[in-house]
Amino acid sequence: MYYKLYEPYRLRGWDGLPFCLASPHALTPRLLSQKEFAVLLCCDGMTEFGDDNDESVEEIISTMLQDRVISPCEAQSSILDYQKVRKHPNGHIHGVIWSITGDCNLRCKHCYMSGGRNKYTDLTKNQLFDMIAQFEEAGVMEVELSGGEPQMSPYLWEIVDELLRRNIVISHFHTNAMLLDDEFFSEMKKRNLFWMFDSSLDGVGTHDSLRGTPGVEKTAIAAFYKIREQGYPLLVNSKFHADSVPAALDTYALMKGIGVTAWKVSFVFPIGEAVSNVSSVPAITCDEYLELLKRYKADGNPFELNLIEGVAKGYRGGSFAFWENDKEDVFNQQRVSCGLCRNRPYILPDSTLVPCIGWVSTPVQKLLPKLINMPLSEIYADSGSLFRKLVGIKVSDITEQNAECRDCEHKLTCGGGCRADALATNHGNDAIYRRGMMMCGVYKGGFMEKVQEICGNRAN
Ligand code: SF4
Ligand code: SF4
Repeated sequence: MYYKLYEPYRLRGWDGLPFCLASPHALTPRLLSQKEFAVLLCCDGMTEFGDDNDESVEEIISTMLQDRVISPCEAQSSILDYQKVRKHPNGHIHGVIWSITGDCNLRCKHCYMSGGRNKYTDLTKNQLFDMIAQFEEAGVMEVELSGGEPQMSPYLWEIVDELLRRNIVISHFHTNAMLLDDEFFSEMKKRNLFWMFDSSLDGVGTHDSLRGTPGVEKTAIAAFYKIREQGYPLLVNSKFHADSVPAALDTYALMKGIGVTAWKVSFVFPIGEAVSNVSSVPAITCDEYLELLKRYKADGNPFELNLIEGVAKGYRGGSFAFWENDKEDVFNQQRVSCGLCRNRPYILPDSTLVPCIGWVSTPVQKLLPKLINMPLSEIYADSGSLFRKLVGIKVSDITEQNAECRDCEHKLTCGGGCRADALATNHGNDAIYRRGMMMCGVYKGGFMEKVQEICGNRAN
C-alpha cells in the first residue's frame, strides 16, 4: 500500500520544533512525535507499506487518513518537492506581512507608515529578490503583500512570480483598491492566483475625509463589487474615530450589500500620521458597535466579523468566539503577549523587521534589524536578539513588572493588552511592560460583558 501527503502539507523542522507538519494555511505547525514524523516521511508515494507494520504504525496511518493529512495513492506517484522534509536551523516563523514599497497614491491622515510621503527608501530589485530567498531559507510559507500601495511597486509581478517559484503562498493582497483594473485581474488569472483582497473603508460618508482625497470612497466601493464579481474573497477593514463612528451602522449595511467575506472593525491607532492629523482618535468601545453586533446577529452572521482586534469574532452561520483564558498555569508560564507577532511579523519597505505594524513610530522601531543587514534566519536563530525578546514577551513578564495588571481581575483574559499599544501610549523605560490602553478600556470598561450578552455563549 502507498500513501502520500495531501498537497498543502510540508514536513518541516525548526530549532526547538524538530518534527512538524506545516501548512501555509495554518499559523502554527502541528507538532509530531518522532515516530509520526518517520511514518509521514514514508508517505511519499514511493515507499511501500507492507502488511506487517507494527500496531503503532497502523494507528498513525489511520489517524493521518482520518485527519486528511495523507491519502492512499498509486505506486510511484511522488509528492511535490517542496513537501519533502526540510530543516531550518532558526526558530519557527510561519509568514510575513511584507511592505514591498513605501510609495502610495494616497495620503491618508492616519497612515501608520506615512505612505503618501514615502519616508522609507524602497529596496532595489536585487535586494527584494534577496529577501525572498531569505524567506525560503527561514521556512516562511506564506506572505501577505502590502505597501504603501503594492501596485505602486514597479516590481510587483516579478516579486509575485519569484514567490510562486519558491512555493511561497501569497495569502493576502493589501490594497487601497484605487488601481484595480481589468489588467490587474487578468495578471492574477494568468498566474492562477487566489488571494484575499485586504482593503479599507473607513466609514460610509467618512472614508474620503480620513483618506484625505475626495472621491476615493466611491472608487473603493466600486472596486469591492468588482472583486466579488470576479470571485475573489474580500476583507474590508474599517477604522473609526470619535467623529466617524456614527457611520458604523451604515457601513455594516454596505458590507452586507457587497457580500464581503470578512469585515474588521477597529479604531484609529494613535501612531504615525494619526498623531498629528486625527484630532478625536478614541472610538475603541461605543454603542454603535453594540448595535451593529445586534444587527449582525439578527441577520444570521452574513460574513466573518472581527471586532476590535479580535476581542470578539463572528463566523458565518451564527457562531461567535471571544478571547478567553482561565487556565492560570498556562497563563503564568507559557502565554506570549501576542502570538501573531512572532509567527507573522511585519517587514517595512526599508526591510526593518517589526513585530507588527503597530510598532512603527514607537521608540523601539529604530533599534530593530534590517533584513538587508541581517538575514531573517539569523534573527530567528538568536533567541537573545532584541526582536526575539520582544516577540517572546510573556504575559507573566508583564504581570511581574506591572502591579496594576498583576492585581487586575481581567488579567487572565486581557493579559495586559497589546505591547505596541503600551509603547505608543506610555513613556519611560518600563513602557513596554505597562498596560495596553485599548484592551484595558475594553475589559475594565465592561464592554466585553455587553458584547457577550448580545452574542450569547461562544457556540450559539
Ligand atoms: S494608509 Fe495605506 S492607502 Fe493610506 S497612505 Fe498609508 S499606505 Fe497609502
Ligand atoms: S484590564 Fe487593564 S489593568 Fe487589567 S490586565 Fe488588562 S491592561 Fe492590565
